[in-house]
Amino acid sequence: AASPLFANLDGDVGVSFEFFPPKSEKMEAQLWDTFRTLEPLAPSFVSVTYGAGGSTRERTHATVARIAAESRVPPAAHLTCVEASRAEIDEVARAYWDAGVRHIVALRGDVPGGGPYRAHPDGYANAVELVAGLKAIAPFDISVAAYPEVHPDADCPQSDLDNLKRKLDAGANRAITQFFFSPDSFLRFRDTAAAAGIDAPIIPGILPVSNVSQTRRMADMCGTAIPAWMVSLFDGLDDHPAARQLVAATVAAEMCRRLYAGGVRDFHFYTLNRAELSYAICHLLGLRPVSTLKDRAA
Ligand code: FAD
Repeated sequence: AASPLFANLDGDVGVSFEFFPPKSEKMEAQLWDTFRTLEPLAPSFVSVTYGAGGSTRERTHATVARIAAESRVPPAAHLTCVEASRAEIDEVARAYWDAGVRHIVALRGDVPGGGPYRAHPDGYANAVELVAGLKAIAPFDISVAAYPEVHPDADCPQSDLDNLKRKLDAGANRAITQFFFSPDSFLRFRDTAAAAGIDAPIIPGILPVSNVSQTRRMADMCGTAIPAWMVSLFDGLDDHPAARQLVAATVAAEMCRRLYAGGVRDFHFYTLNRAELSYAICHLLGLRPVSTLKDRAA
């Protein structure tokens, strides 16, 4: 039935969810609760991040391998070039292929502790080289990063776009964007990319924000602007966690509604290993659970 609020959302959307590898047993239990809650929404994939400098190599692998073994949802493993030789990275990639993992999110990464990027002397210099290296190992499905508000290392928006094009020309299949809070900046970026001849999908990365100071730390690192309206929406809610969650869901759902109105049909959620906000937003986008569990499908 048509709703005056979410009238145009027919459930014709695809979603994917991003997790980080858990550090403790408690965090692991929380991740699996989150995964099991989101899994019935039949995401096209779920991805697991790779900690700064490869610090989570084993944990990322273990999490991705468990998803591959226990679910029908395809997992994607993030992989970075930081502080590793080509041989080491190639070995990680081969281990993924052997474990049945077919999708890699190929990234340059950042220097742990900050500062200008320095490539490992025997390593991949950047994400373009990593994509080419992965394609030489096996026919991986590859996602790369894109920046609607321009990567801080880029000389200008055009060189950032040229870099994205090189990653796709090297064999990447799609781009997932850094989070942003202006739907217009995403839609403009998508249109500029299309005008530059990029026809691969560019999927918006949605960060449902419920804690502005935590988000500010992440945003400062990656050059995303936190608009004043966002700060003022959360102003005064420090001692009201439930209200904060409601505001967070409203803001993210409204952003997704605008993206949908602009023609976007695929959304990637930075879940921070929590289900509820992403689940609520997917529900508002019209998604409903389907059975995706292996044992139910058997
Ligand atoms: P690249 O595409 O190699 O380059 C970064 C920027 O440098 C480019 O945008 C470009 O502007 C500039 N540049 C590079 N080469 C040139 C050139 N030849 N000429 C001019 N300019 C150039 N980090 C992690 O550590 N682990 C993760 O799991 C992780 N997951 C992520 C997932 C997504 C969806 C996104 C958007 C980011 C993620 N990151 C992750 C962060 C990412 O590693 C950083 O943003 C990093 O600084 C850049 O990585 P990249 O793959 O975009 O790099």
